[in-house]
Amino acid sequence: MRADLHIHTVASDGCWPPERVVAEVKSRSIGLFAVTDHDTIASVPAAEALAREAGLAFLRGVEVSASLDGRLFHILAYGFDLESLALTALLHENRAKMEGFNGDIIHALIAAGYPIDADAYDAYEYDPTRGGWKGLNFLIDEGLCTGVRDFFDNLMAGLSLEMPTFAHPAEAVAVIEQANGAPILAHPGMSLRRVGLTAETLRPLLESGIAGLECYSQYHDDATIRFCLDWCARHDLLITGGSDCHGGFVGREVGVPLVDTADLRLGELEERIIRQL
Ligand SMILES: [Zn+2]
Ligand SMILES: [Zn+2]
Repeated sequence: MRADLHIHTVASDGCWPPERVVAEVKSRSIGLFAVTDHDTIASVPAAEALAREAGLAFLRGVEVSASLDGRLFHILAYGFDLESLALTALLHENRAKMEGFNGDIIHALIAAGYPIDADAYDAYEYDPTRGGWKGLNFLIDEGLCTGVRDFFDNLMAGLSLEMPTFAHPAEAVAVIEQANGAPILAHPGMSLRRVGLTAETLRPLLESGIAGLECYSQYHDDATIRFCLDWCARHDLLITGGSDCHGGFVGREVGVPLVDTADLRLGELEERIIRQL
């Protein structure tokens, strides 16, 4: 069975509401999928109900922001309890940090002389099916940037703003486990690209308690996938994979790379897969 365990919706920065995700997944004959928005599970209950109706297997997911040595890591949590107060609190805290950071960007741009009305930003609303986030869409509508690439390369690059610091991976792992979820390091080849993906650079993540790696990812070439698979086998850890598709936003296609459930090692997560009633 085909699988895609990394898909974003309008609840974070993707373009697709849960209905569209389920339709796209189904049209590509993907039988098992997970919705993994950044620091929010707002789309999970709807996606879960729609998956059941459509006869698709579903894993609850969320992509949790974490910080280690000044670097941002994404830890995918799968199969958690929706009612977990610890997880809900961590996600809320992370979203508040990102919202604050977006406000900081706007104020830094104003200080740098850009013609921006802070009140207009506060009052600004946008159609979430555009993808992205409030600050980005606001700056596009104000004619100050053309898109996400332009935003990072030209606007952000000119500001000396540091990303917010999130919880240490060990802390994020503890919260995910408290919620009965499995913590998987997302796209390690991308997150560790600056320092290189090696057993050495993965060691602090291993020591933080991650349960596996997202081995199959659009960010990974064949050698990176092979390295991740070997590393997981050596440490007896789980193997996942997904597209990191955001709908039309940032252009990663759903179901790519092609992953079969036989390629994965889901361990205890097998029991957390939600199937048709
Ligand atoms: Zn990510
Ligand atoms: Zn993602």
